[in-house]
Amino acid sequence: LASRLNHPEPTVVSIRNLRIGDGSVTVMSGPCSVESRDQIIEIARELQKAGSHMLRGGAFKPRSSPYSFQGLGETGLKFLAEAREATGLPIVSEVMDIENLAMACEYIDMVQIGARNMQNYSLLKAVGRTTKPVLLKRGLSATIEEWLMSAEYILSEGNPNVILCERGIRTFETATRNTLDLNAVPVIKHLSHLPIIVDPSHGTGIARYVRAMSMAAIAAGADGLILEAHQSPESALSDGQQSITPSEFAQLMHDVEVLTTAC
Ligand code: PEP
Ligand code: MN
Repeated sequence: LASRLNHPEPTVVSIRNLRIGDGSVTVMSGPCSVESRDQIIEIARELQKAGSHMLRGGAFKPRSSPYSFQGLGETGLKFLAEAREATGLPIVSEVMDIENLAMACEYIDMVQIGARNMQNYSLLKAVGRTTKPVLLKRGLSATIEEWLMSAEYILSEGNPNVILCERGIRTFETATRNTLDLNAVPVIKHLSHLPIIVDPSHGTGIARYVRAMSMAAIAAGADGLILEAHQSPESALSDGQQSITPSEFAQLMHDVEVLTTAC
């Protein structure tokens, strides 16, 4: 079902007024984690002013250490919904388990399946039984084939609204957090009709490299970007080192617009 062979025309996923996969570039941005009501509403306003099309923010966080900030849970989703109310930006947030799926779907516009859950097949089937758009991130060590099979789990349950997200893979390289595999963009475009966006924040792990890889992703043909942004990255509760500031985001949006008109 994910293959282009039986489905030559590209899939366009609608999220409120947005059409992802129609040839336009959709930019989603926001903090790694929702930290407080004021934090998410303030940054949502700044990112919306700078041209972001969607707001991201984690309420359920898959942290490597159980002692790290785990997210605000449902309270975080409520704050995200308030930020949508304040800005009009549709929201995307990660759901880590089936127990919280129905509850989360009442707040959010798109469900993010994180890299660590790309092979959580029961969770994939559960989101497949909803009609919510799903952002399926590539697993840390997943091949493109395995990633497409995970998309197949969602599609085969009846949910056609799948967007793929390349977020970097584990390699021997240590200069960056992950190795952003931009090969995946033309490969997915060749093999599948599903839209693909790129996450240069997790892909590099370092804020100073985010602009270059964002531009590269668009030049490679990505349908959009998902970027981590924070008012004060140095005090972020998660992923501060890879988060850009609202003013860096505004500059990046400007550069993206120049590039998309050129492409
Ligand atoms: C995130 O988007 O903050 C996140 C945890 O992403 P990933 O699942 O790609 O690591
Ligand atoms: Mn993050």
